Amino acid sequence: MKRALINVDYTYDFVAEDGKLTCGKPGQAIEEEIVSITKEFIDVGDFVTFGIDAHEEGDQLHPESALFPPHNIVGTKGMDLYGSLQDLYKAHQHDEHVFYFEKTRYSAFAGTNLEIKLRERNIEEVYIVGVCTDICVLHTAVDAYNKGFKIVIPQNAVASFNPTGHTWALEHFKRTLGAKVI
Ligand code: ZN
Repeated sequence: MKRALINVDYTYDFVAEDGKLTCGKPGQAIEEEIVSITKEFIDVGDFVTFGIDAHEEGDQLHPESALFPPHNIVGTKGMDLYGSLQDLYKAHQHDEHVFYFEKTRYSAFAGTNLEIKLRERNIEEVYIVGVCTDICVLHTAVDAYNKGFKIVIPQNAVASFNPTGHTWALEHFKRTLGAKVI
């Protein structure tokens, strides 16, 4: 089965200690795992995608404006990938099988051409890593499920600021979306 990796929102604002909407320690703790999985996919030539939140400053029409402080504003360091994931991405950003794209909603499928890129490559299975387990990773997984993709969630490469939400989402991936949680 052809597989792809969807790397969700592992950015400065979502992970760094002083990030604007940080997961904090749980987010920082998965750095090594997320880099190792991403590197493995890159090395074997499997399709690697980065679906990264991108917001406009002062966008009052965006529903998240009422819910969260401003984060991942275009043109700020908040949008940079966190830690050594940024270095890995920079080293491979021009590779044919590495695809970075901006998203404006929780799901990496919402309003992006991710699905087209996956279908072009006959991808049947998506691995999803990043933050937050119970928000953007969850919404991306739900969309992947509805579009008929098989789902794998490496549980040491997802994290949330909310431990209850994290645990709930891992169960939901398994029991409701039929995902392999590994
Ligand atoms: Zn956002």
